[in-house]
Amino acid sequence: PVRGLPRVVGADVPVPIRGGGHVPYANLDHAASAPCLEAVHEAVTRALPYYSSVHRGTGRLSRVTTDAYEAARETVRAFVGAWRRSAVVFTRNTTDSMNLLAHAAPTGTSVVVFETEHHASLLPWKRAVRLPAPATPAEAVSAADRALRESPIGPRLLVVTAASNVTGELWPIGELAHVARRNGARIAVDAAQLVPHRPLDMTALDLDYVAFSGHKLYAPFGAGVLAGRADWLRAADPYLKGGGASASVGRTTRWAAAPEPRHEAGTPNVLGVIALAAACETLSERWDAMIAHEEALVTRLRSGLATLAPVHELSLWGEGAPRVGIVSFTVDGWNARDVALTLSEEYGIGVRDGRFCAHPFVRHLLGGDDAVQDTAVRAGLGLGTSEEHVDRLLTALAELTCTVTRAAG
Ligand code: PMP
Repeated sequence: PVRGLPRVVGADVPVPIRGGGHVPYANLDHAASAPCLEAVHEAVTRALPYYSSVHRGTGRLSRVTTDAYEAARETVRAFVGAWRRSAVVFTRNTTDSMNLLAHAAPTGTSVVVFETEHHASLLPWKRAVRLPAPATPAEAVSAADRALRESPIGPRLLVVTAASNVTGELWPIGELAHVARRNGARIAVDAAQLVPHRPLDMTALDLDYVAFSGHKLYAPFGAGVLAGRADWLRAADPYLKGGGASASVGRTTRWAAAPEPRHEAGTPNVLGVIALAAACETLSERWDAMIAHEEALVTRLRSGLATLAPVHELSLWGEGAPRVGIVSFTVDGWNARDVALTLSEEYGIGVRDGRFCAHPFVRHLLGGDDAVQDTAVRAGLGLGTSEEHVDRLLTALAELTCTVTRAAG
C-alpha cells in the first residue's frame, strides 16, 4: 500500500454473498459516487454542533456558519486554481452547474460539444453543434477548431470533459482552451471525473468555467461547483428566484449583483459545502500518494484484463491513452447487467453497468446502432479500492467467463 494515502470511511464493509457468508465489499464504483474521506467525516462532525442559519443571522453561531460557508468557497477557489475575481457558485452537482451555465450564457451563444460527453454536459444547451467522437486527441483539437471557426458571429462556448466517465481518458483541455481562445470562444470543462484523480489549475490552463460534484470527490451527495468568469453570471436572471438572490423587493425586484448570492437562492447545503471543501483540502495535500496508488491499481487491472482478454473475449476500452482510474469493458456473450449482478452477488464486488449517461459515446464504442449489446461494465477505482479488490475482480471474471465457455463448449 502507498504511504500517506487519505483514508475513506466504511472501506471493507461486509456484504452478503450467495451461498452464505460475507465478504468485505470491493468498491469498484468510485466513478459514480466515491466513499467519504475520514477527514470529511471529521470536518462534518466538527461542524454539526455549531451550525446555524447562514448569511442572514446575526447570532454568534450564524456568523460562525456563514464564515465556514464562505471559507469553503475560498478553499474551492484555490483547489481549482480559479482567478481571484472569478465566481465560485455552489450548486447541487455537475448537472446543476452545467444547467446554470446554460441558463446564464447569453441568448444566441453558439455551443460546440462532443458526443463523447456525459449527458450533463451534452444536453443543457439551447443550440449546440455536436461533434462526433474523435479518434485521437489531435482530431478533437482540429474538429473543435473548425467548428468554432465556422460558428456564427456572437458568443461562442466550447464544452468538453476533462476525463471521460466512460473510458477514463484524459482530454487535451489545455490545447482545447487554446483553440477556444484563438476563435474568440470560451471553454467550459466538465471536471467531474478529473478532480477526484488529478489537480486542476484553471488559471494555468486558461479555462473559463469548470464544473464538478462533491459526491465524486469523497464527500457526501448534494453539493457541487460552477467556478469561472463572473460576467455572464452577473448579467443573467437568477437561476432560482427567491430569498438571497434578491437585493430588494418592492413593486419591482432588484437582484443581487454578485453571482454567488444571485444564483444561490434559498438556504444552501452548508454541510455539503463544508464536506466538499474538506475533501478539496485533503486531496490537495496528498496528490502524489493518490496518483501513485491509482496508477498501480489501474496497471494491475488493465494488465490482468489484457491477459484474460484473448481467452475470455473481453474487450477493453480506451487502449493506450493517458487516463484516470476508470476501466470499462464488455464480455462477449454476456450482458453487462448479468456480469455486474454476478460480481455483486457472488463476489461482493460493486461495479457499474449500463451506458453511463453517455449514450452517444457508448453507442459509438459498441459499433453504432446495430450493436447487439448496448451496455458495458465499468470499474471505477480510487481511494477505497485495494489490490485485493482488483485481484478479486480478475479472478471473478476468469471464473465467470470460464463457466460460459464450458457451457457453450
Ligand atoms: N460529468 C461526468 C463526466 C460525470 O461522470 C458525471 C457523473 N456520472 C456527471 C457529469 C454528472 O454528475 P452529477 O450526477 O453529480 O450531476
